[in-house]
Amino acid sequence: MKKIILITLYCFAMQLVAQSKKNPAEGIFMDKVERTDKEWQACLTPAEYQILREKGTERAFTGKYYNHKEVGTYVCAGCDNELFSSNTKYDSGSGWPAFYDALDKSKVNTKMDYSFGMKRIEVTCAKCDSHLGHVFEDGPRPTGLRYCINSLALDFVAKDKK
Ligand code: FE
Repeated sequence: MKKIILITLYCFAMQLVAQSKKNPAEGIFMDKVERTDKEWQACLTPAEYQILREKGTERAFTGKYYNHKEVGTYVCAGCDNELFSSNTKYDSGSGWPAFYDALDKSKVNTKMDYSFGMKRIEVTCAKCDSHLGHVFEDGPRPTGLRYCINSLALDFVAKDKK
């Protein structure tokens, strides 16, 4: 009898695991890009590596996209995952590219970041887990969010080149 209960519990647990893997909002179902540190170093510039893989932050007003206004899609500089649309980009005045929404909730992940004595929410690429920037709750409508993203974490694909 005890064995049957254990087997039933085991099956139930496995079902829960399977269900969690099907949830695209968690980014688990997406084809993940996984590379070793050495591989990342080989395919990124040192500056990109510092931002994407070491959670760095470029200096404000130095990136190539904070004042960029072309129509198109911003993709992850690490894996080309489509992250943000120019439709949701706005000038936050901060010196970093700002978006009030991600292209799709499954494209990015967020997690609490207590580094440097601050309480912030880190934004990472759901596909390759690279650091992109932070999201703050002082953005414009309709979301009220400000995805504050490093230019070095992004590449831009113009609409007519897609
Ligand atoms: Fe990525």
